[in-house]
Amino acid sequence: MSNPSDKTETRMNKQPEKRRADLLNMSLEEIKSDLVSLGEEHYRGDQIYQWVYRDVAFDEMTNLSKSLRQKLAQNYIIGTLKQLKRLISADEHTIKYLYLLSDNNIIECVVMKYRHGNTICLSTQVGCAMGCSFCASATGGLIRQLNAGEMMAQVLESNRDLAKLGWNPVSNVVLMGSGEPLDNYENTMKFIHQIHHPKGYNMSYRNITLSTCGLVPKMRALADEGLNINLAVSLHASNDNVRKKIMKVANVYSIEEIIDASRYFYAKTGRRITFEYVMIDGVNDRPELAAELSQLLYGFPNHVNLIPLNENKQNKKKRSNNTAIREFMSVLRSYGINVTIRREMGSDIQGACGQLKADFMEKL
Ligand code: SAH
Repeated sequence: MSNPSDKTETRMNKQPEKRRADLLNMSLEEIKSDLVSLGEEHYRGDQIYQWVYRDVAFDEMTNLSKSLRQKLAQNYIIGTLKQLKRLISADEHTIKYLYLLSDNNIIECVVMKYRHGNTICLSTQVGCAMGCSFCASATGGLIRQLNAGEMMAQVLESNRDLAKLGWNPVSNVVLMGSGEPLDNYENTMKFIHQIHHPKGYNMSYRNITLSTCGLVPKMRALADEGLNINLAVSLHASNDNVRKKIMKVANVYSIEEIIDASRYFYAKTGRRITFEYVMIDGVNDRPELAAELSQLLYGFPNHVNLIPLNENKQNKKKRSNNTAIREFMSVLRSYGINVTIRREMGSDIQGACGQLKADFMEKL
């Protein structure tokens, strides 16, 4: 008669294969200490880290022994994303990617060609919990956080494709895709440190912009990090009543608290703040609101970016007409505020905020 414990034994032996860690989701220090625990010298971490960010596969890491390369392949992966869709705008200045994650969730990101370099607009979450009424990413709520490796994979995967198209690799990152980066604080910070690391991607903090709908305590925490990244604040209103009509988060933090936190960020970093203002017809585009906005922004370096609403099936609202936008802008200018109107890029390829994914999901 067989011993029942034998069966258990057999089952135990058939454990699923060990989950390999994603090197894109590990800091240099984490890689080094992991290697030491695998019996390797810690300086190997520097070599591996450099290869990873030069997009070199394990078997091509020529300064490592064959056995180490095999060990790496057994224990790690270098995260990739499957490209589900790529759309290039007619003017060939904007490319939108739809990527499949390993758990079959879908994210999108956009690469824009500017004179100062190529900028990638990354997603930081699958979906978003913030529930802004005009935003397509908010429709299904938050599905899950992205980890730092999945943010990095958007950069490296897009670079691979850009190279095939003859574009330069991305030199700037804006955290303005789907999701609220400050609602995924730890992973976002890890990503920022990773992409900045001089031995890795080596992107200057100045080339990184984080956009938030105004999570005040996290804005202050970010200021305390003392990094000279750019902060963009999605204000979209000049008083709390109007803001509450379009942004759920306005019920949690007041505009006054957001402006105070923005001043604090400026005091800590010396970086001027960008305030984003989506222009929505009949909601927030009256000239007197521009005057009210000017009062709020008095006394510290800032810049207002007016964004004509991208109309989409999800929001059912209309963009302000050009006359209203120009008038709003000239009122701001008359108060000495720096103001620009966001150049529309890629509207022919649903370049805006969660729209491509929303359309894609609808067709499934
Ligand atoms: N959660 C962050 C970053 C993602 S949204 C934030 O709120 O800033 C990036 C920017 O696009 C925000 O300013 C957001 O308000 C804006 N946006 C969202 N939907 C839009 C739409 N339909 N048209 C124009 N801008 C939109």
